[in-house]
Amino acid sequence: MTDSLALPAGPMGQWPTLEPGWVWLCGAGPGDPGLLTLHAVNALRQADVVIYDALVQEAILDWAPQAEHVYAGKRGGKPSAKQRDISLRLVDLAREGKRVLRLKGGDPFVFGRGGEEAQTLIQHGVNVRIIPGISAGIGGLAYAGIPVTHRDVNQSVTFVTGHDQSGATPQSLNWKAIAEGAQVLVIYMGMKHVAQISGALMDAGRPADEPVAVVCNATTDRQQVLETTLGRMVTDIDAAGLEPPAILCVGRSVLMRQVLDWQGLAAGEAPRNLDPLGRGRPAEAS
Ligand code: SAH
Repeated sequence: MTDSLALPAGPMGQWPTLEPGWVWLCGAGPGDPGLLTLHAVNALRQADVVIYDALVQEAILDWAPQAEHVYAGKRGGKPSAKQRDISLRLVDLAREGKRVLRLKGGDPFVFGRGGEEAQTLIQHGVNVRIIPGISAGIGGLAYAGIPVTHRDVNQSVTFVTGHDQSGATPQSLNWKAIAEGAQVLVIYMGMKHVAQISGALMDAGRPADEPVAVVCNATTDRQQVLETTLGRMVTDIDAAGLEPPAILCVGRSVLMRQVLDWQGLAAGEAPRNLDPLGRGRPAEAS
């Protein structure tokens, strides 16, 4: 364990400087501060003001003790900020000559409205830098021991959002086509409409016994993982009292958790099944 993180020389010998009047739009990863990128840490150290979303863990703000921390989340309970207001606030702060860090959960360009904010900033003549982050649908599943691709299971992944701006299941999504075409499906913001989503997938032919994982608060100390199936997921989520934020993963890669639940293994549990896909083992180099 180390209690400090001195950055060695960065790309081209120097880490970029967050100049006054600039906005850096940065992903904070799914929760665990260890999943911040080095560019994110470099940004946190320089910012005058950090505007952060609901899904950004408080512990991450500790990396910017010198900065003012401004909450701009939209999650239940706390007052919501309108997207346009947030974008214009960023413009104002930049024009005041602040070094502005806009911090978003996961990756800013994955269901994070990062594109909209960056566009508004650029339309107002503000300089931006984009810092990608680890998205919950990849890193969060990895913390649950689920590889988002696995050679024996899938050669593609489909990322979808379970609700749109109005909170409804997106009309623009063709669930039948998704059900028919997606090998493994990773669903963000799916908890509100889990009954419609699972129903639509089964109506379109996905089997009721298809494995599903629900990963709540992934990578945080409140992480919860439920293994269920398409047919049982509504009842099981309810029975377990699971709440958002959660990633839903539909597909056989979920079975790999039976061998890859590395957090369970680290806590002393035995692997449940060394070969959950029944491919024979050991799989020697091939
Ligand atoms: N830009 C983010 C996604 C924002 S949309 C990213 O790349 O991860 C918000 C949704 O992301 C949540 O409803 C949930 O589905 C998912 N999410 C974000 N953080 C999560 C976490 N720690 N655990 C589980 N799901 C998470």
